[in-house]
Amino acid sequence: MPHGPRVRFAPSPTGYFHVGSARSALFNWLLARQSPDGCFILRIEDTDADRNREEWVDGIIQAMAWLGLDLDEGPFRQSDNHAAHLEATQALLSRGFLYYCDCTGDDVQARKGENKTPGYDGYCRERGLARSATTALRFKTPHDGVTTVHDLIRGDVEFANSTIDDFVVAKSSGAVLYALANVTDDRHDAITHVIRGEEHLPNAPKQMMLWRALNDAFADEVALPVYAHLPLLVNEQRKKLSKRKDPVATETYRDEGYIAPAFVNYLALLGWSPRGDQEIVPLSTIIEQFRLEDVSHSPAFFDVKKLRHMNGEYLRAMSRDEFIAACAPWVAPWTSEWRPTDRPTPWGRDEFDAEVFARVAPLVQERVAVLGDVAAMVDFFFLDDVDMDVAAFEKVVGSDPSGRALLAAALARFSDVAWDASSLHAAVEELGEGLAMNLRKAQAPIRCAVTGKLVGPPLFESLEILGRARAMRRLESALARCSD
Ligand code: GLU
Repeated sequence: MPHGPRVRFAPSPTGYFHVGSARSALFNWLLARQSPDGCFILRIEDTDADRNREEWVDGIIQAMAWLGLDLDEGPFRQSDNHAAHLEATQALLSRGFLYYCDCTGDDVQARKGENKTPGYDGYCRERGLARSATTALRFKTPHDGVTTVHDLIRGDVEFANSTIDDFVVAKSSGAVLYALANVTDDRHDAITHVIRGEEHLPNAPKQMMLWRALNDAFADEVALPVYAHLPLLVNEQRKKLSKRKDPVATETYRDEGYIAPAFVNYLALLGWSPRGDQEIVPLSTIIEQFRLEDVSHSPAFFDVKKLRHMNGEYLRAMSRDEFIAACAPWVAPWTSEWRPTDRPTPWGRDEFDAEVFARVAPLVQERVAVLGDVAAMVDFFFLDDVDMDVAAFEKVVGSDPSGRALLAAALARFSDVAWDASSLHAAVEELGEGLAMNLRKAQAPIRCAVTGKLVGPPLFESLEILGRARAMRRLESALARCSD
């Protein structure tokens, strides 16, 4: 019975959710969503008990939900399929595809001597060893011929079988290793497309050999999947993204305030591009246009600056209310189900005023690139004492007599100016003229006194929202600071 593509994302829960994994998950999901009967499966490959942690499993599931990559089947656990892995091992063994081997790594090394050929030399292939506590099971790789991986992105990739050693499929402990467990599960789930990172390309010929051997051992004809190995992600130096040096954890981007639609849009561009010259495109367009055949095999630059820019564009395209709601985890986390890690608000719950925030939100929406930057831009509305950037204050007030003169003049003028943005604008402009300061220069000391910083939301709108009394108090204390 013909059916749509059945794809799986099969992460091993050994760390944070790498942006490369997020891209693999997305490309699988896109293929499934293009067909009404496409099926997207999440399979957690958790058989390496020494390296897996339950919290990473939660991280994967949460990150997938955040990105909106919904599942048709699963999440499955590879470990739940243990019986099938053992059954596959037995079937391969009884059909003569495997043999027992008791060589240690040192034995293999010693036999090699100067010979640098990688891998195992087949020493135990004909020894007819029986199962014991020290024997692993190896696959009898054919010596001649080639195995051709049909890859939608790279074309046909040929591997000479002579370069593939008799690899271990099960350890002496009985644990079935990745290659066989992965293939057993893919057959079980009738996977049609294996879409994953380029680093798995060398595994593909081994997995094809296992797949064919299993068809033989079980006397069935499960069709081999089509492969698509996605291009490597590289940093600015065109080096493979490094877990230590580059920001690769999807969780970190979420914590910093990247929003899922922008992040997904950006991930889609890592190796693929939509038609036309627009890169910011709705998900529905991406689903419609995405073709694995159009994915490039050259490394894709993971450009955080571009991602940041796109995120800002997405934030600006939100309605005011959407933006306010999106800010909640960073400005009023007590109202939000999800909260970023280690990002306390600068204010306490009682100091925050949702109505004031609703008024200032449009001012920051125009300027902010990531939601995690919002709180620091608006903290002066909620804190009694501004968080003063001392060096900035010294520059524009402390060591600048005209800055001090302007503050004093503003304090006098603010007591009776009409308290709205345009009157404040006109008043400050006029005070500046009197002191031979242009508007930009005249704003700096006031902004610093009132907000504690030299950059932030538009000054006059901010002053209007802050209110006359609080603004004047801040000018007073700034002047007092100078005479301390
Ligand atoms: N579990 C493997 C990994 O996380 C993926 C294997 C695959 O997609 O075939 O790298």
